[in-house]
Amino acid sequence: MNLLGQRIAGLIAAQGPISVAQFMTLALHDPDYGVYAARNAIGRAGDFITAPEISQMFGELLGAWCVAVWHQLGKPQPLRLIELGPGRGTLMADALRAAKADREFSAQIEVVLVEASAPLKAAQQQVLAQSSFPLRWESHLSGALLNQPFLLLANEFFDALPLRQYVWKDERWHERMVTLVDDALTFAAAPAPAAGLSVPSARGAPEPGAVYEISPSAIALCEEIAHAVQRQGGAALIADYGYAQSGFGDTLQALSSHTPVPVLHDPGSADLSAHVDFTALSDATTPAGANPFGPVAQGDFLKALGIEARAAALIRANPAAADAVARALHRLTDDTAMGRLFKMFAITPLASAPPPGF
Ligand code: SAH
Repeated sequence: MNLLGQRIAGLIAAQGPISVAQFMTLALHDPDYGVYAARNAIGRAGDFITAPEISQMFGELLGAWCVAVWHQLGKPQPLRLIELGPGRGTLMADALRAAKADREFSAQIEVVLVEASAPLKAAQQQVLAQSSFPLRWESHLSGALLNQPFLLLANEFFDALPLRQYVWKDERWHERMVTLVDDALTFAAAPAPAAGLSVPSARGAPEPGAVYEISPSAIALCEEIAHAVQRQGGAALIADYGYAQSGFGDTLQALSSHTPVPVLHDPGSADLSAHVDFTALSDATTPAGANPFGPVAQGDFLKALGIEARAAALIRANPAAADAVARALHRLTDDTAMGRLFKMFAITPLASAPPPGF
């Protein structure tokens, strides 16, 4: 077992089994050995590759989306442009370059990057060093950041938020825990049924062994964003992989160098993520009375925003890059690649028009 595994085993030996959510938090965020503290997880050389790392077109179109939505909302000023989990900073750099074309928009924005990982924050600072926009970093999304009109972007952020899992056993839901058996980290259902858990009936009747997943932090965050959108004016665009229609199933996965590995093996040595439950996110906007849009397939969204014309323009400007641009276009939009599994979900104030792409 690696050092973080030993640290987690020590914690379990001292206090008993931990939830899957606690395990994810430790594996991703341990300040010494966690994925985001210690690994260069994102990109070709890392564990997984994300849409903005595939092509500049992704960030550019999201930048253009922000400008268009700002106009739709009646140009609220001043405006904060917030990104959750900006990774290597690529999306924001591309979005700002595209947004610069609109002087009115870019003259009054403040850019806030919300990043928990120190090495990734350093990478973002480097990529954005030449930017002419006022930039600021925060380690988490505080309520104070949402106290004025804002546009918020989050790509592959929600899939990394801690997840709780429950297993259907003996006609009851039992929380799936991480425990120690013969000195190895192992999943085990809690002996007592989970108290106070309410599973939406729309999911149907569970079979023995069914797994119900819920990310309380994703839901709480979405609720907070929806309240702020409704109160301050603004919009959020959440892009991630996951289901539009929720069912049962264990979707927690670990990726190391683009290859799936066992989730509990050598924590911190592989990225952990799970499907985003867009129904749960959409439901979380209801208490605020905000408008949820989508989810729509990433391929459809990017095409509606003009990715094919953008690809053609890039090829005209640099014919030598034609194959690379065509490959990136395919990867981002095709149903057999990221086009369908990845989805876009937006939150806008009640009664606002559908944002571009929805
Ligand atoms: N958006 C980027 C990176 C996705 S990886 C891209 O598309 O390439 C997830 C990102 O979220 C990383 O930057 C990670 O450090 C950050 N992150 C994960 N959990 C976080 C949390 N609770 N608070 C702040 N940042 C977090």
